[in-house]
Amino acid sequence: MRVVAGIDLGGTAINYTLLDERGHFLIEQLCEHPARTKEGPLICLQQMADGLKIALEKAELKPSDVVMAGLDTPGPASAAGVLSTRGGTNFVHADWAGWDFPGNLSKKLGIPVIYLNDGNAAALWGHFSLFGAGSGNSSISAIIGTGLGGGVIVGDSVIQGKNGFGGELGHVMIPWQSIPGTEGMNPVCNCGRPGDIESLCSLTAIERTLLPHFLAQNRSHELNRAETPHQAAKLVRGLAERGDSLCMEVFRIQARSLGLFFDQMINIFDPDALTIGGGGLETKPEFQQWFLREVRAGMPMQREEQANIPIHVMPNGDTAGARGAAIEALAVAKRNNLLAMEIAGI
Ligand SMILES: [Zn+2]
Repeated sequence: MRVVAGIDLGGTAINYTLLDERGHFLIEQLCEHPARTKEGPLICLQQMADGLKIALEKAELKPSDVVMAGLDTPGPASAAGVLSTRGGTNFVHADWAGWDFPGNLSKKLGIPVIYLNDGNAAALWGHFSLFGAGSGNSSISAIIGTGLGGGVIVGDSVIQGKNGFGGELGHVMIPWQSIPGTEGMNPVCNCGRPGDIESLCSLTAIERTLLPHFLAQNRSHELNRAETPHQAAKLVRGLAERGDSLCMEVFRIQARSLGLFFDQMINIFDPDALTIGGGGLETKPEFQQWFLREVRAGMPMQREEQANIPIHVMPNGDTAGARGAAIEALAVAKRNNLLAMEIAGI
């Protein structure tokens, strides 16, 4: 048996998957191991190797069965997977600065390692989950979390760009002032841009901009009594799902913002599908469907040919990064003839 591993490194946990040469995932459930990133890269590297061993045992495989690993992490990192010299939001120990993720993991595991940023990896999974391998299709995925990530897949390939910032969707500016209900808002992103998609559609946007705006207009709302703005923001999704009108309005603004953003993507890429993933939409299906209708309502009139573009919610959201990294590793392994047998369609 020859397999590739998908390794998704976050700030606190490492998530694993294994993909066989036919393109079947051998681990269906979430398979996690603590990341210990705060203790620096060497400790974390050992954690990554230990966790992989546990994942392989679960699938009754040997380390020698793994021919390549795909690694994804939050950035900012170069296209080759070298972390910024200023470190990263999730990688605060001083030794992380300029750390070569795939190079060091490759030495540790004794196999080639390819790298994607976490948004691009999730987008690749979103694409694969819709179309399978080798479709030649294109899709755009937006991942709503603390920020807004995602990726652009054109003809099954991830657009990574010259510096690794391809698919940094969150910082694309949108004409948000056209959304009803945003009068008097002042959305500004961490990156400094006013009115980019992340400044209106993310947990951070809820905490900093959307919730304070609506709570100021509704002093009796229960979220005015939350302990911190962060606590309040985290309660919005659940309350919206249960029909709270103020919290639904917060989600409606997010959906309409995504509609404006997707309209730009449709005009640039003319994709086969749009996908939305991330914790922001981990809700019951009825709420997801309402949200998708609001996204569509936020899109300006489309050309007849593009009007029915499908919008999907990404499945298996919490394993998306690991799955996408594994899909990329399998494609690269195949190109480099690292697999014994030919894989149909990949
Ligand atoms: Zn931004």
